Amino acid sequence: MDLLSERIKNMVESSTLAMAAKAREMKQKGFDVISLSLGEPDFKTPKHIQEGAKKAIDDGKYFSYAPVNGYLDLREAISEKFKKENELNYAPDQIVVSNGAKQSIANLFLALLDPGDEVIIYAPYWVSYSALVELAEGKCVLIKGDIKDDFKANADQLKAAITDKTKAVIFSSPCNPTGSVFTREDFEAMAQVLSAHPEIIVIADEIYELINFAGAHVSIGSLPGMEHRTVTVNGFAKGFAMTGWRVGYIGAPLWLAKAANKIQGQITSANCSIAQRAALTALTSPKEASKAMANAYYQRRQLVYDLLKKIPGVEVNMPQGAFYFFPDVSSYFGKKEIHNAADLCIYLLEESHVSLVSGEGFGEPNCLRLSYAASEEHLKMALARITKALEKLI
Ligand code: GLU
Repeated sequence: MDLLSERIKNMVESSTLAMAAKAREMKQKGFDVISLSLGEPDFKTPKHIQEGAKKAIDDGKYFSYAPVNGYLDLREAISEKFKKENELNYAPDQIVVSNGAKQSIANLFLALLDPGDEVIIYAPYWVSYSALVELAEGKCVLIKGDIKDDFKANADQLKAAITDKTKAVIFSSPCNPTGSVFTREDFEAMAQVLSAHPEIIVIADEIYELINFAGAHVSIGSLPGMEHRTVTVNGFAKGFAMTGWRVGYIGAPLWLAKAANKIQGQITSANCSIAQRAALTALTSPKEASKAMANAYYQRRQLVYDLLKKIPGVEVNMPQGAFYFFPDVSSYFGKKEIHNAADLCIYLLEESHVSLVSGEGFGEPNCLRLSYAASEEHLKMALARITKALEKLI
């Protein structure tokens, strides 16, 4: 007897987490696997942030449920950060702190979508966007960017995708999985199209804000006319190397923040009190550690780019942020037993013991995602192994 709901049966597994689990499994069996699948800083959470958590435990004041939307002082600090760093005006009661940006986004889709409502997703996109839209019974409408345009869909594509069922638009900048960064001009063009559709909510996922090599980070919510309809999503995982702590947040129009709060109150109560105190330390301390990590990613980006460029049949662009490459590997399809990117991913895992993620789950089946949040030594080794394994296919 199959007791599972249609909802769960129809849901796809997170391909990033699935590949990470596969790599872990092989490692446990004794294989020397280099894992470039999970988008996770290889750095430890900076010491002063760890100390913030330890102090919270020693204080003994943070063992009870936190307010559903997060501690007021943390929300005040986030409000201040939005104002100072992003030119965004979200009052503390417009902020909801969640168990990672993933939960923030789940809250939003559950709050916004009725069955059949459409969400325009800039593709390639992070795997969980589509799964969460579908969980909320919405419909994904993809607008796809080409590698030749740094994977950035343009404003005409946005305009063509809007229907009377469009409820929201979502993108990440810097982008997971492509590393693309929208410029102010890109956002102005987007805002121009959206000005004719004030009922559409814009969800800007800025979780990679601190890993941006393109210059100043721009928040679409800071553009004229965008403030009251934009939800800005951010968190601590990537910029502060705090993936396991699970702290994400949104700044949103008040009615939507209240709805996210209501959902969260029923699903998780609030997020971990100690993790919130660590997050407050991260936000209110100098950002030297984050800058040092971003510098390391910058060096590695060049290293990996040069090595990828040398592999015949691999098309690659230079990402402007985050810590991913998203090369087109379709020239290998049809060689030996490789039919698609998923096959190639498995082949590379088995043949070279390097784990990557197939582009399929990101809405681009011609590509593979490689996370370069790994040491230079591991990256060099991984690229040498990948090159050798791909040579065998030619
Ligand atoms: N966001 C990271 C990634 O894309 C972590 C895994 C996940 O939640 O998808 O790899």
